[in-house]
Amino acid sequence: MDMKTVLSTIDAEKVEYVDFRIVDLLGRQHHVTVPAYAVDEGTFRNGVAFDGSSLTGYKSIEESDMVAMPDPATAFIDPFVESKTMNMVCNIVNPDNTVYTRDPRSIALKAEAYLQQSGLATAAYFGPESEFFLFDNVRYASGPSGSFFHIDSEEAFWNTGKEGQNLGYKVRNKGGYFPVQPTDSQMDIRNEMCTLMTKCGLHVERHHHEVATAGQGEINFRFDTLTRTADNLLLFKYIVRNVAAKHGKTATFMPKPIVGDNGSGMHVHQSLFHGNTPLFYEQGGYANLSETALHYIGGILHHAPALIALTNPSTNSFKRLVPGYEAPVNLVFSKGNRSAAVRIPIAAVTPKASRIEFRTPDSTANPYLAFAAMLMAGLDGIKRKLDPRELGFGPLDKNIYDLSNAEKHEIKSAPASLAEALAGLEQDHAFLLKGNVFTKEVIEGWIAQKRGEIEQVERTVNPKEYELYYDL
Ligand code: GLN
Ligand code: MG
Ligand code: MG
Ligand code: MG
Repeated sequence: MDMKTVLSTIDAEKVEYVDFRIVDLLGRQHHVTVPAYAVDEGTFRNGVAFDGSSLTGYKSIEESDMVAMPDPATAFIDPFVESKTMNMVCNIVNPDNTVYTRDPRSIALKAEAYLQQSGLATAAYFGPESEFFLFDNVRYASGPSGSFFHIDSEEAFWNTGKEGQNLGYKVRNKGGYFPVQPTDSQMDIRNEMCTLMTKCGLHVERHHHEVATAGQGEINFRFDTLTRTADNLLLFKYIVRNVAAKHGKTATFMPKPIVGDNGSGMHVHQSLFHGNTPLFYEQGGYANLSETALHYIGGILHHAPALIALTNPSTNSFKRLVPGYEAPVNLVFSKGNRSAAVRIPIAAVTPKASRIEFRTPDSTANPYLAFAAMLMAGLDGIKRKLDPRELGFGPLDKNIYDLSNAEKHEIKSAPASLAEALAGLEQDHAFLLKGNVFTKEVIEGWIAQKRGEIEQVERTVNPKEYELYYDL
């Protein structure tokens, strides 16, 4: 929609409220609501004022006046609010109308502008596959042994559907991919999510139960350009969470909620186009990849030790990146191989659908920052002609989990902790600063924010410590 269509839709559909949404540094959405009668052309010119001081990663009390500038192209009717409400995603600007450099969405837009300016491609497409768990409405483990932490524990009651009861039957752990109902008890809830996603403008491609036993799901929606896809991902998460809430459940996108079972990733499919011409395809090469695609992969893998601080930005992220659960642990590329950080899908791939899949990311990433950073890494690879084969990143078409120690020695590993990834980002971020897409201040703010999280986690007593030390 453009501004005129938004305003006429507000009239025609008798919209009562307009909800303006902004994103904080972590990728969480916040909102300010305005009665529809107070929304006019001026709203799009002048924006909506809000107090930025209490949002994570934003301004301090002294300079809290911020403005949300709505993007009419993101308008949709919110299916969860009783009075008719239209939502719009906003960019954040300073009171003097200049871009607020910490606004994640503005960073994503700058990355797209940088792409245009580079002349390397006219569009970058992103397709995230965000996995999640649905749990009964208990947020945290209650006891020290932590029912949330052990699927095989006596207390693993939550996948039986009734809180506080173990009904004596549990679905097998990693019992295959994935039996039909009644084993898959979340068919209806995923259908309901997809119906609402479609209504809100997402093009749903498929949904399925994921490999983890206790209610892990995945819903795929169609790829789009960078900023649009980040908008879509937040819309997707909003719908997943709200439908779950309607059913008395919570959805979590945290990467590793359960020890001993698969975690939740957010694989990100990526490709570049020049007009209608796909730039990642060339018949005959390895996995029919063009030189451009190989260099893009080279950029991603070369910068991965830093990039991962943005694509896997939680302490929990690194509990997912361990062998044995279809999550990548090493920095290699491969066709088909799901244990590689970069996979080249080869099934049913036409030149136009030719793409790379970066499998490391998870949904605790801020999608605006993560997609922008991946594009910057890939473009740097193209500019510097970083050949992943020469840099020791493969291709490797074996299951990496089964490699001998000697073989493992030859390939690079992904960072093992958030601290390691942040140190990587501290050392290597010049590629992000090109074209002023990220600023030094944003990188420093990110690192400080995330080091604060590490400190909080380290100071917190962990259920495993009870197991190891309680009766020592
Ligand atoms: N859940 C796995 C991950 O963490 C992926 C499983 C899959 O999609 N095949 O990346
Ligand atoms: Mg998938
Ligand atoms: Mg999956
Ligand atoms: Mg995938």
